[in-house]
Amino acid sequence: MKTHLLPEQGRFYKANMHCHSTCSDGKWTVERLKEEYMKRGYSVVAFSDHDRCISHNELSGADFLALTAYEADVSDWAVKDSRFRRCYHFNCFAKSPEADGREVTPVPEYRDMAAVNDFVARLNEAGFLVCYNHPNWSQQTLDDYGGLKGLFGCEVYNHSAMLDGIDADQEQPYDALLRRGNRLFCLAADDNHDHFPPEHPLNDSFGGFIMIKAPALSYGAIMTALERGEFYASMGPEIYSLYVEDMRLHVECSGVRSIHMTTAGRRAAVARAETGKTLTSAAFEIDPTDGYVRLQLTDREGLRANTNACFVDTLPQR
Ligand SMILES: [Zn+2]
Ligand SMILES: [Zn+2]
Repeated sequence: MKTHLLPEQGRFYKANMHCHSTCSDGKWTVERLKEEYMKRGYSVVAFSDHDRCISHNELSGADFLALTAYEADVSDWAVKDSRFRRCYHFNCFAKSPEADGREVTPVPEYRDMAAVNDFVARLNEAGFLVCYNHPNWSQQTLDDYGGLKGLFGCEVYNHSAMLDGIDADQEQPYDALLRRGNRLFCLAADDNHDHFPPEHPLNDSFGGFIMIKAPALSYGAIMTALERGEFYASMGPEIYSLYVEDMRLHVECSGVRSIHMTTAGRRAAVARAETGKTLTSAAFEIDPTDGYVRLQLTDREGLRANTNACFVDTLPQR
C-alpha cells in the first residue's frame, strides 16, 4: 500500500509565502506584486507585511489567491545596535481571509521564552498558522529557537537573506526543532522587498517558493493543504511524486545531481548521479526507529528542494 505524502489528486500551485509590499517596507504595490508573480507562474502570494494583518481579498480570482498574513516581530530592544539585535520574526498565515486588522497583542519581551511561546499559542488560538522565519538573519542560535513550541513551519530558505549575504546553512534549525520532538513543516520563501528591478541579479523576488498540491485554488483548499503539509519547498527543482511503500520512501523529480535523506539520528542516505548525468527518481529504506525522514534534492546549479519531514510513527509498518 502506498502512503502518498503529496496527494495523488489535485494540482500543484506555486506560492511565495513571505512578501512585503508598499503596505510596509516593500517597493512594489500589491497589484504589481500580483502581476509580476503571476507572470512567472505563481498562483498564491501570502502578503506578509510587517506587524499589520491586511487582507487583499480583492486580488483573488480564478487564477490567483491572496493569503491574508503578517510578519510579527519580537525584537530584543535592549540591544541598541540594530546589527546585533536578535529577533523572532513569525509569519502568521490567517486561516480565514477576513483576518484584516486581527494582529495578536501584546507582543512579549524577547528574553522571556515562556512569554514567546504563549504569544505563538495566542496566534494559533486566533486562527493563524505560525512560521519561524530566517534564523540566520535574526542572529539567532539554538539558545534562541531551541525552545520554540506551536510552530506550523520553519523557513529553510530565505531568498532575501541569501542576497543580503547572510546564507549559511538554513536547514539546521529545522532539524534541531524536529529532533526536539516538534512536528512542523519547512518552507522556502522570498521575503522580497524589491529594491531592484525584476531583471536585476539582486532583485529578491522569485527565488524561494513552495509548491502546494490541492484540489482547487480556493482559500479553504489551500489552507487545508498547508495544515496537512501537502507541499514541498524549492529554489528550483520540481518534485512530481513522493510516497512511502513497504517502508521505502520514493521520490520522482526533475533532473537533480543528488538526493539526500535525513533522519532524526545519524543514519542517512544519499543518491548521486554519475558525472554529467542527472537523477529523476530515488528510493530509500526507512527504518522504524528513524523518527522522521526528509529529503533534500540539489540540482546541477546548486538549487535545492526540500520535502517536509515525514514522521515514521504515522506510517503503516511493514
Ligand atoms: Zn523578517
Ligand atoms: Zn519579512
